[in-house]
Amino acid sequence: MASYENTRPERISHVRETHPLLQVARNHAEQNILPNVDAWNAAKTWPREASDKAGAAGLTGLYAPEELGGQGLPLSEGIQVYEQLGLGDGAYAFALSMHNICTYAGCGYGTDAFKEKWARDLTSGRKLANFALTEPQSGSDATNMYSRAVINDDGTWTISGAKAWVSLATEADIYFNVVKTSDTPGHKDMAMIAIPADAPGLTFGPLYKTPSYGFLPLAEMNMDQLGVDEANIILPIGQGMQGSLMAIDIARVSIASGCCGLMQAALNTALSYSMNRKMFGCKNLDLDGIQWMLGEVATDLEVSRLLYKKAAQALGTPEGPLMTAHAKRFVPDAAVKAANTCTQVLGGMGLLLPYGLDRLSRLAQMLRIVDGTTEISRVVIGRALQKRAATLPDLPVPKGFGEAD
Ligand SMILES: Cc1cc2nc3c(=O)[nH]c(=O)nc-3n(C[C@H](O)[C@H](O)[C@H](O)COP(=O)(O)OP(=O)(O)OC[C@H]3O[C@@H](n4cnc5c(N)ncnc54)[C@H](O)[C@@H]3O)c2cc1C
Repeated sequence: MASYENTRPERISHVRETHPLLQVARNHAEQNILPNVDAWNAAKTWPREASDKAGAAGLTGLYAPEELGGQGLPLSEGIQVYEQLGLGDGAYAFALSMHNICTYAGCGYGTDAFKEKWARDLTSGRKLANFALTEPQSGSDATNMYSRAVINDDGTWTISGAKAWVSLATEADIYFNVVKTSDTPGHKDMAMIAIPADAPGLTFGPLYKTPSYGFLPLAEMNMDQLGVDEANIILPIGQGMQGSLMAIDIARVSIASGCCGLMQAALNTALSYSMNRKMFGCKNLDLDGIQWMLGEVATDLEVSRLLYKKAAQALGTPEGPLMTAHAKRFVPDAAVKAANTCTQVLGGMGLLLPYGLDRLSRLAQMLRIVDGTTEISRVVIGRALQKRAATLPDLPVPKGFGEAD
């Protein structure tokens, strides 16, 4: 007779390795996000009450040190929180991930004066932060930046320019902006500076009209001769782009994590429905074709989990950018496929609002774009492949077959 005893220790140790905050995040998704997300989208306002609760539960200072009120989690553990939040809503998970990254940067690299003023409010979620890199003319081509900071004699900075696609626009209390400090092309003069929402000269354009994450305010941010104290410099001149790339890598893996929650939510809905819907004398779920469709989703989900966790482990190592690119290329695509497949499994019902699958499809597509598109991930992977090719022995191309010079 097969013994199941032997499998137990492994299972228990797996449970022990799981950080209690993951359960907290799951509860937050089940109790605060899922029951309310349709109402939030209809109201088109950021659910501050929910993010306050997330803060009180410890979800807004994941990587910040405990002495500043944070949870002190390593990135590889903290990033798993977004898989749980993604069970509720991917856009909400994304916004909290951006807040956590800014909080990590502010608590790690900010000046003492900045930490004194902001750290505890950020780690507790009483104040929210977001990251502004994209400009109207530069998304993927991020170094083509027009925002300029002029450094005054007294050390203060005067900033002019515009950012685009600013998440939590008008809602965040502070924006971590990447700016150029000269007209020299390239990124060597870039810096990151935190701009409080009440800084004179800071205004926002009208909120963008989005299809199904209406509660996430998005807008253009305009900076007109805006003055900022030097205490707010998070990354000095020369480190702005490097620091942004690290922040974006963390954001990309966080998105892959959130996508896994989204895929699980879609799969759960499809399973729950198709074990009740009857056709051709059986349950939908008894049909091979339905099982195969959902089986593919289940495999993609398992692969996606392994990939984002491996990428999260690699953050901060030389392999980090490439592993991140693999995760950001693969997982959101898998999430789009999963959400569409699960919609198909429900037939017409899959298109109706209460099942939430249409929302998941649109969210998954959004997650393919934000924080570096799938194509940009392919560019990163392609460059790594070229480097690898250069280390391999030549495989000669026969004469006349288009050999390289
Ligand atoms: C919901 C949402 C929230 C966002 N929040 C923020 C935020 O808070 N802060 C912030 O700074 N930014 C934010 N962004 C901006 C986001 O990071 C950019 O949209 C993204 O980087 C892509 O830039 P783009 O939209 O300008 O597209 P473009 O750069 O114009 O790209 C257009 C198309 O060209 C493709 N492409 C680009 N380069 C190449 C290439 N070399 N080879 C092949 N194809 C290529 C792209 O993949 C894309 O398909 C947000 C975006 C969204 C949708």
